[in-house]
Amino acid sequence: MKQLVTALSTALILAACSAPEPQSLTPLDSGERFDQDIIARDVSQAIQFPTVSVPGAPRANWEVFEEFRAFLQARFPLMHDQLNPVDLGDGQLLFTWPGTNPDLDPVVFLAHQDVVPVEPGTEDQWSYPPYDGEIADGFVWGRGTLDMKGHLITLMHAVERHLENGSEPERTVYIALGPDEEVGGIGARRAARYLDERGERAWFALDEGGLTILDSPLTGAPAAMIGVAEKGYMTVTVTARARGGHSSTPPRETAISLLARAITAIEENPFEHSLDGGPTRAMLAATAPQLDGIAGFAAANNGLFGPLIQGQLMEQDAARALLGTTIAPTVIEGGVKDNVLPQQAEALINLRLHPRDTIESALAHLRGAVAHLEGVTVEADQWASEAPPVADMEGAAWDLIAGAAAAHAPDGAPVVPFMVTGATDVRAFANTADNLYRYSSARAEMGDAARIHGDDERIRVDDLDEMASFFYTVIDHAAVQDVQN
Ligand SMILES: [Zn+2]
Repeated sequence: MKQLVTALSTALILAACSAPEPQSLTPLDSGERFDQDIIARDVSQAIQFPTVSVPGAPRANWEVFEEFRAFLQARFPLMHDQLNPVDLGDGQLLFTWPGTNPDLDPVVFLAHQDVVPVEPGTEDQWSYPPYDGEIADGFVWGRGTLDMKGHLITLMHAVERHLENGSEPERTVYIALGPDEEVGGIGARRAARYLDERGERAWFALDEGGLTILDSPLTGAPAAMIGVAEKGYMTVTVTARARGGHSSTPPRETAISLLARAITAIEENPFEHSLDGGPTRAMLAATAPQLDGIAGFAAANNGLFGPLIQGQLMEQDAARALLGTTIAPTVIEGGVKDNVLPQQAEALINLRLHPRDTIESALAHLRGAVAHLEGVTVEADQWASEAPPVADMEGAAWDLIAGAAAAHAPDGAPVVPFMVTGATDVRAFANTADNLYRYSSARAEMGDAARIHGDDERIRVDDLDEMASFFYTVIDHAAVQDVQN
């Protein structure tokens, strides 16, 4: 990401002129203090249950998951006694803390119990064994610390503290703990359906996906990055059909050469890429004030630089992905023998849908690109999912989440909305909540963020009280006191 700095810093300076003024945020009261050493021990223990989920096997490692949930029950007794935990199926836990005012829409907090496996053969590359939960050098180390048992444990500490304090929410608070985020998130869909069936629509749902990055690639300085959008996911099969037979008398084109032309045609018709239609302009605007001095220059040259900014972003793969739907041919198949003409050849193309595109419009776009090629078809697979709606970046819900983030981020760090390019559980609530936010107030350097799903994953002990206090504050302002609808 370092190479982004040069390109983006110029872009940011220029963005100051074309983007709307950033919201000024009032940090909320920073809430109760928590004992970071106690939380560190809990996170360490949580890491010692290797809750690895397995694709297509909902109850894999079931005993480990049960032991983990028994640990949570022992450690957070008030939540388990008072908030009626139910298993919605295959270990999807839902806690309900009923509000006193049924006219207020509920809020939902999500976290997942599962972790990705440690890649076999890489165990030696860890400084401490991945499931020991070692506390050393100011970090808790292990698989799942950042993704996302640190988030889960600090969330539960916040709720438990509210219960100890006798808090009574006006607004219903749901806490949904998924067993399978890393392998598809069927559990989160069950939780969303549970609300749907009761005719409930949440004000917001909060999950992982953003962090406070200490060395933002945008500025090199700290920034609290809140995910307000996320890309959709879609894989299409491109099939080319042609006459079979003996390769000694081929037609002008075989199924394989036709497929090659189809892939080329699709790549030569990229989707629209622009700063609009997602959070990118707001992201640039929120970051630009950190570059004051030169920003003044940019403001004076307003309007001229939109295409230039976009041109700079288009040069970087990670930045380009924020601007539009991406096209990645990933699998190709065709032919059985060197002297036999294949009757069919296929390619899989993986798309990550920008919020401005839908499954249907993307499919129409791809089909248009190959319409001139007879014998070529394009079909979406059954797993395609739309990009969820972009959450509010102003108004009460944003002010609450961003205000709590501002209170717990390093002084002067801007709160920056952005688009998550991966997938999170919260997408299951696209039609069940007005706003989907993705944020944990853990502080990480880009290098630490890269340890997620990699070696030496770790979380800073210093951050754990801030994280719990962040959740305490959000719950407090959303549901317990000063509640407005
Ligand atoms: Zn995760």
